[in-house]
Amino acid sequence: MGKPLKQHLIDPEICIRCYTCENTCTLEAIEHDDENVVVDSSKCNFCMDCIPVCPTGSIDEWRIVAEPYSLGAQFGWDELPEQEEIAAEVDEAETGLEAIDEAMTALLAEAHKGAGGKARAPASASRPTVNMYTPGRPAEATVQGNYRLTDKAGDHDVRHIILNLGKLPFPVLEGQSVGVIPPGTRADGNSHLPRLYSVSSPRDGERPNFNNLSLTVKREKRGVCSNYVCDLKPGEKVKLTGPFGSTFLLPEDPQARLLMVCTGTGSAPFRAFTMRRQRSTGANQGGMTMFFGARSPENLPYFGPLGKLPPELLRTHMVFSRIPGAPKEYVQDRIMVERDAVAELLADPATHIYICGLRGMEEGVEMAFTNISEGIGTQWLALRDTMREEGRYHVETY
Ligand code: NAP
Repeated sequence: MGKPLKQHLIDPEICIRCYTCENTCTLEAIEHDDENVVVDSSKCNFCMDCIPVCPTGSIDEWRIVAEPYSLGAQFGWDELPEQEEIAAEVDEAETGLEAIDEAMTALLAEAHKGAGGKARAPASASRPTVNMYTPGRPAEATVQGNYRLTDKAGDHDVRHIILNLGKLPFPVLEGQSVGVIPPGTRADGNSHLPRLYSVSSPRDGERPNFNNLSLTVKREKRGVCSNYVCDLKPGEKVKLTGPFGSTFLLPEDPQARLLMVCTGTGSAPFRAFTMRRQRSTGANQGGMTMFFGARSPENLPYFGPLGKLPPELLRTHMVFSRIPGAPKEYVQDRIMVERDAVAELLADPATHIYICGLRGMEEGVEMAFTNISEGIGTQWLALRDTMREEGRYHVETY
C-alpha cells in the first residue's frame, strides 16, 4: 500500500448540480454524468479555484485514502463515504499532510470570507429529500399558472409560476430549489443544463394538499431558461430535476426566531417560510423579521400579500432603491436604522439568520451586523461562526 493521499470530493447530497465548479476548473478535473459531479484525483492539483464559486459548500469535502476513489465509484454515490479508518493511522508528520492541511485551511479561510462558509441545516429542520430526479430521469410537471408580479409597464419582468406534479411524488421543503431543463440544445448539440430556482411555496403545495409548487423567476435579457419559463403557458409540460439543498431550511421549532434579508427574487424561499408558518403555527411562533430590498414597490415581488400579514407573524421592512426623488435605500441601511431590534435578535440563541439574493449585498449586510454586534459587545465573526455551527446562519447569494 502506498502513502495515504488526500482526495478532493464533492458531497452528492448537498451539490445542486449547477456545474459552476466544472466550468471554473481549468484542469478539467471536474466532470459530471446524469447523477453526480465528481473530481478526477489524477488531475486535481488542489489549486482551490473551485471552492469559493460553489454556492452550497458541497465542493469542500476531503478524505484521506489509501487508494483514491475512482470516477466510476463517485458517479455511483448517493452520499459521501465516511472517512476510512486509515485516517487515524496516518502519521501526519511522516506523510506531509499537516503542511497540506495548513495550506488548505488558509486557502479555505480566504475562500469562505463573506461567502457564508460551510452551512449546516437547522437542528430542528425536517430531513430533506434530494436528487430524486436527474437530467437523465427528470420529473414532468404541467404549468398551472404564470402570473406577472412586477409592474406591467416596465421591463423588470418577475413571474410567479405554478407547476403541477400530478401524481408524481416530488417532496420538497421550504428553502429547497429545483432545476428546470430548458428544451432544445446548446451550440455544441448537447442538451441544456438545468437552471436552479428556489421553490417559493411551502411543502404542502402552493394550494394546501395539492401536489403543486411555485417558482419566482425574473426574465433575464439573454437568459435561455428564464425566457423559457417566463413565457410558459398553462398546460405546457416542464422538465424538473431535484429537489436540491439540505441546509438552507426552515427550523421546525416554532419558537425559532427568523431574521430574513433578501433582494428581488431572493424573496422566493422566504415566501415559502412565511406560508409554512402561516399554515402550521399561525401567530403562535417565535416571530419573523424580514428586510426586503427592491427597486420600487411595483418591482417588489409579492408586495401586496406581504403587506397584509400581521406583525405577530412577520415584521416586514421593505426598502427601495429607485424611487424618483427619494434617496437610494438598501437592506443594510435599514438594518442599521433598526439596529436595536436587530441587536436583540442577534443576542438571542433562538435566532436564525437567512440572507438570499444578490451576492453584492452580502458585504453590506455583514458590515451592518458587525457594527450592531460591536454595539452589544459581541464580535460578529465569532457570533457568525457559532451560528453557522449551530445551523442558524444561512446564505444563498448569486
Ligand atoms: P434586483 O431587482 O436587481 O435588485 C433588488 C434590489 O437589490 C434593488 O433595489 C437593488 O438596487 C438592490 N441592490 C443592488 N446591489 C445591492 C447591494 N450591493 N446591496 C444591497 N442591495 C443591493 O434583484 P434581482 O434581479 O431580483 O436579483 C435577485 C438575486 O437573487 C439574483 O442574483 C438571483 O439569482 C438571486 N436568487 C434568486 C432566486 C430565485 O428563486 N429566483 C433564489 C435565490 C436567489 P439597485 O437599484 O442599485 O439595483
